[in-house]
Amino acid sequence: MDDLISDARVMIECESPSDDHEAVARSAEVVTSVVGSRLREAGLPGEPERIEIDGVTHMRWQLGEGPRRVLLLGHHDTVWPHGTLATHPFSVHDGVMRGPGCFDMLVGIAQAAHAVTALARQATKAGRTPQEALDGVTILITGDEELGSLTSRALVEDSARECDAVLVLEAAGPGGAVKTERKGASGYVIEAVGRAAHAGLEPEKGINAGIELAHALLAVAPLADAAAGTTVTPTKGTIGTTTNTVPARASVTVDVRARTAAEQRRVDAAIRTLSPTLSGAELQVTGGINRPPLDLDASAALCERAQRLAAEAGIATLASCAVGGGSDGNFTAGLGVPTLDGLGAVGGGAHADDEHTLVDHIPHRTALVALLIQDVLESRR
Ligand SMILES: [Zn+2]
Repeated sequence: MDDLISDARVMIECESPSDDHEAVARSAEVVTSVVGSRLREAGLPGEPERIEIDGVTHMRWQLGEGPRRVLLLGHHDTVWPHGTLATHPFSVHDGVMRGPGCFDMLVGIAQAAHAVTALARQATKAGRTPQEALDGVTILITGDEELGSLTSRALVEDSARECDAVLVLEAAGPGGAVKTERKGASGYVIEAVGRAAHAGLEPEKGINAGIELAHALLAVAPLADAAAGTTVTPTKGTIGTTTNTVPARASVTVDVRARTAAEQRRVDAAIRTLSPTLSGAELQVTGGINRPPLDLDASAALCERAQRLAAEAGIATLASCAVGGGSDGNFTAGLGVPTLDGLGAVGGGAHADDEHTLVDHIPHRTALVALLIQDVLESRR
């Protein structure tokens, strides 16, 4: 417990806002040192591949020489801006850890390192080499998950593709529930194009892009399907240039979330085939499907395995939950690779002022990750 907390503390006390590449690079150094020294202590290679893509630093530890079997997946960037440590310093009081990114998801990185080293030490005691025991395990810690994994998506997918299991160390759901469903996300910009004219002198010569956009909004909103869990939410928009000009352009962004790929495709097709209402107006649609859903097909078997292992080990009953927000687990599930998410910290307040982690759960969660790694590795031997 003490080592887990002190490792988490070192990572939390290095601020890593996603949009500052230098801060993310500094954080990568700290994570490399924390995880690397634990791995070395346990007789494993500690030096990761450092993979910099468009200025963003990611780290990958590949244990053993064999094909990839288990991917432990996490991110070291956070949503917290510089200076957060001054207002939200690291602390542990009455079993509650606080500090920027503790819950999402720096404690999860410490868990991944300690789960692996626990197995390495166990192997050493049993007379095996740690490398042999953990052959096929990969730890990937990315640096831009909070921005939608723009630079790391291909790396995540490549690292997962041949695996039997992806274990995502993102924070747990309520009460420590693992996450078996995450909605897929799509994003669009719908732009209406009309024609400008003076609003006082000759408005009839204009084509009002704002009114065209209003029609589009009313066409888009009903694509939501509450029963299917599909939401379609127009979010941010702009209309026109000055107060006395018929607007030539107007645009809106639309956020779409869906539980199934079929629902994502239905909404995608409908948005792409919107047709203009006003004579002479045009509609242009950009964007599309970003993250596929993490659905039960990808997670159910691993979840059952985790629940069985938790019960056998006497760890409190492990619940599962479905959530709206996405993670890199969506990408790996989208490839059809079995994926279980939310194996990290138990607590709450992700991205919020009351972000916190319940420290009593950290050793059990770490043990559960270790048991899952071992179980997956052994199931093919
Ligand atoms: Zn996260």
